[in-house]
Amino acid sequence: MTLATAIKCVQCGKEFSPHLVIFECAECCGSLDIVYDYDRIRRQIVKDVFLREKVTHWKYAPFFPIADLSKVVTLEEGGTPLIESSTKRDWLFKYEGINPTCSFKDRGSTVEVSKANELGIKEVACATTGNMGASVATYCARAGIQARIFVPSFAAPAKLKQIADMGAKITIMRGTYDDAVQKTKELRVHKHIYLTGDYAYRGEGEKSVGFEIIDQFNWQAPDYIVLPVGNATLFSSTYKALMELKTVGLLKRLPKLVAVQAAGCAPLVRAYRENADHITPIKKPKTVASAIACGNPVDGLKALRALKKTKGLAVMVTDQEALTARKELATKEGVYVEVSGAVSYAGAKKLGLKGQVVCVLTGHGLKGN
Ligand SMILES: [Zn+2]
Repeated sequence: MTLATAIKCVQCGKEFSPHLVIFECAECCGSLDIVYDYDRIRRQIVKDVFLREKVTHWKYAPFFPIADLSKVVTLEEGGTPLIESSTKRDWLFKYEGINPTCSFKDRGSTVEVSKANELGIKEVACATTGNMGASVATYCARAGIQARIFVPSFAAPAKLKQIADMGAKITIMRGTYDDAVQKTKELRVHKHIYLTGDYAYRGEGEKSVGFEIIDQFNWQAPDYIVLPVGNATLFSSTYKALMELKTVGLLKRLPKLVAVQAAGCAPLVRAYRENADHITPIKKPKTVASAIACGNPVDGLKALRALKKTKGLAVMVTDQEALTARKELATKEGVYVEVSGAVSYAGAKKLGLKGQVVCVLTGHGLKGN
């Protein structure tokens, strides 16, 4: 049984039934959010047991929109460590590279592929810069669902191989990530193929990064949680997770959220600096951090509102700063991450943050860029 009560448009506020299969608002094409009955979630959580339970992704199932838990497709994702920095006092790394397909994307994939499984879906389509496609291909393989993955040609070769090895149908496209997104949307319109990607169900799964950090801090907040931002799904999901824990009485004080983007693709940082109420897309992203080269972030508006509400911080880093951060993580900390994953650390250093700082390192170094 799911405690989700509605699907709500972030842009125009229109509400839809939680049983509808939709990926954007039918009225205005805005991105969607899942609404829950938090009173019922609060009652369902047996506090003493819940607080002590081992940290795993599916521990937080009451906060996910899955009705039938027997249909869950899992590879024991999540439960990633918080590794203490050996060079910076009170800094910690949430190392997402050790997830089953070596990136945080598995948290979203387990929820959205479980949802597809629950709905009896046989074929899904996904636009990706690489990591998400590899993750979706893997979870679909496990569920016996055919995955069709659309990926721009700039994606790292290791990711392309990973997608193909998992048995997905892969289409390598000229153009940007947003061109690949358009291609999957056409499939939805013409063939009603289920879409995976940075849509509402994935966002629900990615909340577990936020749940886990607070859980690992013994239900307290660190001073800062620093995240790389591409489509802004992880960022807005982390914010939602924190708000949910506060709503059900498991967290008192929110940490400051820090959004870090690559200078060659920083539409969220620019919008926040200019105090805009919308995101102006970047037509041609230019950065070595390919995993976050999303010029028109799907969840940009959610993230912008989260930044404003929490008076968070937003910073962009140059490719050189990202590459230096990646090298430092490897050679001084022994933590191997892809360039996009190191962007959070680069941003935290650039801002000179003090106190308990959690940098989310989103993908493994073996992934390439
Ligand atoms: Zn709408």
